[in-house]
Amino acid sequence: GASKLWHQHYPADIPHSIDYDKKPLHEFLHETADKHPDLKALHFMGKELTFRQLLDQTKKLASYLQDLGLKKGDRVAIMLPNSPQSVIGYYAALMAGAIVVQTNPLYTERELDYQLKDSGAKMIICLDVLYPRVKKVKESTDLEHIVVTGIKDYLPFPKNVLYPFIQKKEYGDFEKPSHGGQVHKLANVLKEASGKVKEVDVDPEKDLALLQYTGGTTGFPKGVMLTHHNLVANTQMSQKWMYKIEEAKDITLAVLPFFHVYGMTAVMNLSIMMATKMILLPKFDAEEVLKTIDKQKPTLFPGAPTIYIGLLNHPNLKDYNLSSIKACISGSAPLPVEVQQRFEKETGGKLVEGYGLTESSPVTHANFLWDKRINGSIGVPWPDTDAKIFDTESHEELEVGEIGELAVKGPQVMQGYWNRPEETEQVLKDGWLLTGDIGYMDDQGFFYIVDRKKDMIIAGGYNIYPREVEEVLYEHEAVLEAAVAGIPDPYRGETVKAYVVLKDGSEATEKDLNAFCRKNLAAYKVPRIYEFRDELPKTAVGKILRRKLVDEEKQKQEAH
Ligand code: AMP
Repeated sequence: GASKLWHQHYPADIPHSIDYDKKPLHEFLHETADKHPDLKALHFMGKELTFRQLLDQTKKLASYLQDLGLKKGDRVAIMLPNSPQSVIGYYAALMAGAIVVQTNPLYTERELDYQLKDSGAKMIICLDVLYPRVKKVKESTDLEHIVVTGIKDYLPFPKNVLYPFIQKKEYGDFEKPSHGGQVHKLANVLKEASGKVKEVDVDPEKDLALLQYTGGTTGFPKGVMLTHHNLVANTQMSQKWMYKIEEAKDITLAVLPFFHVYGMTAVMNLSIMMATKMILLPKFDAEEVLKTIDKQKPTLFPGAPTIYIGLLNHPNLKDYNLSSIKACISGSAPLPVEVQQRFEKETGGKLVEGYGLTESSPVTHANFLWDKRINGSIGVPWPDTDAKIFDTESHEELEVGEIGELAVKGPQVMQGYWNRPEETEQVLKDGWLLTGDIGYMDDQGFFYIVDRKKDMIIAGGYNIYPREVEEVLYEHEAVLEAAVAGIPDPYRGETVKAYVVLKDGSEATEKDLNAFCRKNLAAYKVPRIYEFRDELPKTAVGKILRRKLVDEEKQKQEAH
């Protein structure tokens, strides 16, 4: 493509443009299993699986799903923490011709119900302890079949690993799924299925591989439509960017969840493509990660700021040898420069900041790992990726140094939002994706994010949409008005705060509201702080000024 300001910094090893393989995403698994059948693909709690085993098991599940009646384009939901089952489930659904819908294992019934209904998922692959939640929503959704995998069969999850996903009391006497009919046990599937997958004709540039749910700029959860080619392209870009990755040699620490698009692309798909063994961790626990690095010696470690911060602040950091780490790209939220420098000092590896969003598979920018970088910048656009800063009012492109909204263009950009043409139109204009992030480009062609137009909160690496939390608060009988905002937090980046006005004569304590939110929202979305007020700041047309609440909070913190 035409030369862009940032191209001058590209090292010879990174092309400006890539000749992409026009193929279905799951071809990565076929190709790697052909080339490296006996190489270890996955490591999970002391057990390992080779690429041949991974492919065989994936084919078994894929053929089984087809035998259950799965047709090309049907949606299959996956509700699993990182585990061999989550990798098998993902590639099996794709191989069978389905569109994958990742759900967060932390979702409550309400959240799950919404996502399954919206996507029209026909099947779900879930952890057996989550089965009671799935069963409750089955009747109101299009679900026909449930594949469960568990804490006992296949590779087991020890109790303590599951606690973030289930309540302690749920473990042990959760309602065990009775197999047969519409409920299928993965362990049996892997024994009984033929493994003969009927060839599905995939047009990589048209056919969807994924509906990935996000709030986008409006906060209303919707499915981002990503094709096979969107995801193949972003994976190939990652490989070129990290040009020192050695096929079949490097080892990836897989602690970012695969149900988030960054973990899915930068960890799972890239590792399968490059035959770099994945060390799977089902949740982030600083001590566990440190131990795992020390013992398993991963070289690649994609993460998010909270993860790196959590490690650096661990009291026993010095007891672990972290020198295997070679390259890390941090995404999802701003990476404090101090964290980056300390992390590099402690490990001897490289840690650079990148940027992306669900709507672009996700990566569009990063700093160079082994070449020029600018601290505090999100780096430069990736190969075949164009970026510009424009004025949100006039829509004119802005000059170097001027602050406006970031727009991106490239083969990783989504097709639109599932069943939401109007919302799609608002963010996709002439092939440009309007990101809702505010920033500027410097005279070197490096980009910076300074603010967010969208109301999204990023707390501890999780995205939270105020509107979703507010809706739950409004359902509480004592609540008249509610506003939810992200306020600065030294450890989690931001934290969720609720501002509540109670109805006249009604009473509710912080504890009441908290219990109500916990029942209806995944734990990470539940406000950590509540403030009761007589009224909320509003615009002339009565729109609550969330922004003003955040500014007040910032001023209060600065005054301290
Ligand atoms: P998601 O769709 O969950 O990947 O969230 C994407 C959003 O995360 C972006 O639109 C940004 O608001 C934010 N984000 C991602 N990377 C960065 C970064 N390096 N700095 C600041 N914000 C970021």
